[in-house]
Amino acid sequence: MTRLVSGSATDVGLVRANNQDQLLVTDDDLFAVADGMGGHAAGEVASLTAVEALAKAFQAATDREPGSLLAAAREANRAVWERAGQNPAFYGMGTTLVAMARVHSHLVGAAAAKDATGSATLAGNPGSRSEGVDKLAVVHVGDSRVYRFRDGQLQQLTVDHSVVQELIDDGQIDEQEAAIHPRRHVLTRALGVDPDVDVDLIEVDPVVGDRFLLCSDGLCREVSDEHLASLLGQTAHPFELADRLVTAAKEHGGSDNITVVVVDVVDTDVTAEATGSQSDGADGDIDLPDPAPLLLGTGQNEEPDTVQLPKLTGPPAPTPGANAAARRPKRARLVTPRVIGFLLLLVLVVGVAVAGIGWYARGSYFVGLRADRLTIFKGRPGGVLWFEPTVARRTTVTTSDVLSSRLQALRAGQPEPSVRAAEAYIHNLTAEATTARRVDNPSYQPLSSRGKTALGAPGRAGSQSAPLR
Ligand code: MN
Repeated sequence: MTRLVSGSATDVGLVRANNQDQLLVTDDDLFAVADGMGGHAAGEVASLTAVEALAKAFQAATDREPGSLLAAAREANRAVWERAGQNPAFYGMGTTLVAMARVHSHLVGAAAAKDATGSATLAGNPGSRSEGVDKLAVVHVGDSRVYRFRDGQLQQLTVDHSVVQELIDDGQIDEQEAAIHPRRHVLTRALGVDPDVDVDLIEVDPVVGDRFLLCSDGLCREVSDEHLASLLGQTAHPFELADRLVTAAKEHGGSDNITVVVVDVVDTDVTAEATGSQSDGADGDIDLPDPAPLLLGTGQNEEPDTVQLPKLTGPPAPTPGANAAARRPKRARLVTPRVIGFLLLLVLVVGVAVAGIGWYARGSYFVGLRADRLTIFKGRPGGVLWFEPTVARRTTVTTSDVLSSRLQALRAGQPEPSVRAAEAYIHNLTAEATTARRVDNPSYQPLSSRGKTALGAPGRAGSQSAPLR
């Protein structure tokens, strides 16, 4: 009988400001990668919405058939599409999706008959093809991919839904030209763009020793198939491999977010042995939970999760395809006191840095324009990182109440240390304008009594270069 052991990693890469990829690994063998697209935070929202909806729908399915995964992917599409319609900021967002799950195949006729006797023989012959047992279903939309590595051979199971793939299929360009084609990022299918979407479904018979790779284009665009094959051929736990794959993509440029899920098909008996060897003499190690805990996807996780917990998952896998019983699997010493100490320090350092940036970003005010009204904002003009300025005080003063020579500074945002200073600045602006108009036209009456000047002689105030304070 077979069991799936997985490892995963996601990384923002070296060029992008944020990670719009999302990965999903559940304890009941559902794996997914989504690569979101859309302005600002919309890409993150799209990919997170997709994997959450996928997990929810698949876990609610009464039976785990290939069709259940297909239906869950359609559900994910609808969830992203509906979310995009709820908020103008999310308009036009979308995401790719690849998902793989353990399912029960529909057994009909000869296949069912074979299964009736097949299970027993299989248990005594673990290295054989797993006919009659669970299958793997793969669904995909977009240009994220699923590969299978079997017997040293790498095979891409999915076919990209992209413009360049269509050109390749059409014989117009080859793989090399596709890699540099100006429209290489343009998808022909994505989740969330329409209320319904065509989802490709592939059924796979897993064999002990198979290694599957789900990835976003940030990996396969950077790393060649040959290099991928050599990495996947290495003897290592899927977690270790996931990290190595991400590192390879970054070494080749890391121009996009990189997300990988590596899934090994292992023998249940061998895995039990590996788990047993883990429980002895835990000198400070934390026992690794088994089976793998949910990384994301039942809806408990509402925030885009870029902090990875994968190292807590699963025992080390035996080497696929090798005689695993002959060698003792390497122990996973992943969570040691030193690691915990390092993580705490990291959290502290990041916390201090974020607080510092927040203090800088939010610790001051500026006077700017909102439509044609002068408005006091808290924050820095244009914002700092994710700290957007917010309205601190509205005023009734409009651009016609101040000198036109001041508008440029107002459009750019005039920094002030406090709300009070900002109010004084606005007051001075209106006073300056009132004085200037009185000088030009003695019959001019200001609309408000606040129009009295805070400046010196009218002649000086009338000069457009008059200092304000
Ligand atoms: Mn991407």
